[in-house]
Amino acid sequence: MEEVVLRLLKTYGVLSFRYLLFAGSLYLIFYVWKKRELFKLKIQQKYPNHPHILREIKYSFLSLLVFTLVGYGIYWLRMHGYTKIYTRFSDHSVGYFIFSVAAFIFMHDLYFYITHRIMHWKVIYPYVHKVHHLSTNPTPWAAFAFHPIEALIEVGILPLMVFLIPLHPLAILSWVLFQTGMNVLGHLGFELFPSGFTTGPISRWSNTSVHHNMHHKCVQCNYGLYFNIWDRIFGTNHPEYTAEFERVKQRAKHHEQSVPELDTAEAVSGI
Ligand SMILES: [Zn+2]
Ligand SMILES: [Zn+2]
Repeated sequence: MEEVVLRLLKTYGVLSFRYLLFAGSLYLIFYVWKKRELFKLKIQQKYPNHPHILREIKYSFLSLLVFTLVGYGIYWLRMHGYTKIYTRFSDHSVGYFIFSVAAFIFMHDLYFYITHRIMHWKVIYPYVHKVHHLSTNPTPWAAFAFHPIEALIEVGILPLMVFLIPLHPLAILSWVLFQTGMNVLGHLGFELFPSGFTTGPISRWSNTSVHHNMHHKCVQCNYGLYFNIWDRIFGTNHPEYTAEFERVKQRAKHHEQSVPELDTAEAVSGI
């Protein structure tokens, strides 16, 4: 029993440290240290207030608890031989290792789109996904700000994948780092990709921070995670997506603005 508690505490500590590293460092840079200089890059030209940010942090650390429990469940299943996880790297080729990471990311993108659309169904939405949408002007802390049920759904791809294909722990770690980084970037509130990115022959297939920011602002559009594949296929990209992306980039280029005072009334309502 003591061993289980220690393992859970260790896992929660590692996950929390990693989240602090990703979300915390970007928050410090974009919302504290370089706030004034970088404001022109801000997608929505205003900042949320502190209760809004504290709520995002609180739900994120609750989600990390859910991820920890699921992680322990997978560890238990692996120890009892129920998963396809392999620990001897030489059991599969390097080519297979790269394929497994790519397949994991691709499958997660599809899984996310499907579950996200389901969670927007009005029968479920108010009880589960609404918590994430309280952030209409998200900060990096919104990346994992989920209702615990949504946290369970979000991490659900992991138990699916460990039963589906052989995965080395390093492949799982690669996916964890990739998904955490991309989630934080999607909620950054600032666009880092260059002008023309959404129309480039290859880059157009990647999502952007503006893309997910519009999802938080407008709700019924832009459901995708990493790639702009499923939104294109199902016609759920916001019709103004490319125009809005370019508006953000042009403003950053031509319009130097000063940092506005926090609008408390707007911020309280979560806008
Ligand atoms: Zn949503
Ligand atoms: Zn989001």
